[in-house]
Amino acid sequence: MARYTGAVCRLCRREGEKLFLKGERCYSDKCSVARRSYVPGQHGQGRKKTSEYGLQLRAKQRARRYYGILEGQFHHYFEMAERKQGVTGTNLLRILESRLDNVVYRAGLASSRAEARQLVCHGHFEVNGHRTDIPSYLLKAGDVVAVCQKSKDSEKIKAVMEANASRPSPRWMDVNHETLVAKVINLPEREDIDAPVEEQLIVEFYSK
Ligand code: SF4
Repeated sequence: MARYTGAVCRLCRREGEKLFLKGERCYSDKCSVARRSYVPGQHGQGRKKTSEYGLQLRAKQRARRYYGILEGQFHHYFEMAERKQGVTGTNLLRILESRLDNVVYRAGLASSRAEARQLVCHGHFEVNGHRTDIPSYLLKAGDVVAVCQKSKDSEKIKAVMEANASRPSPRWMDVNHETLVAKVINLPEREDIDAPVEEQLIVEFYSK
């Protein structure tokens, strides 16, 4: 399974804002955006003019990086969103939010989407009672995500769960931090999604 393996904080610096990709570190004064708030690279501190295309490209890249998705998969999600009824940009966001790794992170069962992805890949979660190790698995309303019984005894999993238990979960899911179970009540509406995503610009980018 392909994934980005470069420097993570560089992605935030390129987008000029915190994308919260590293969990605890993002809330500390070690955050690279706080320490070096300019674009990485030789010309990072130069003056930049941004074209309309540039804005659309950045919006797409920011969303991709925020959710930790490579270009091919992201484009595939856009095509899925276009085929669905309703507003394409909102459909796209709902698809991104319904990924298993995102739900695990949003539920406070991991400190970042990258950690959620790793825990899912290592088989620590089940969906509707079946062990699922596919981070891109798309959940539906009514699906139940839980930490596998065997994993609940692992010291590593216990530490991760304790560190994130106090993080508020979104209103479109019901999370029980005692039993480590999260139920998707409904897929989120646009106003429920607090992601730094300008979906209209992404639609314009792919519509060229
Ligand atoms: Fe981004 Fe977190 Fe790194 Fe800050 S610490 S630059 S928010 S990944």
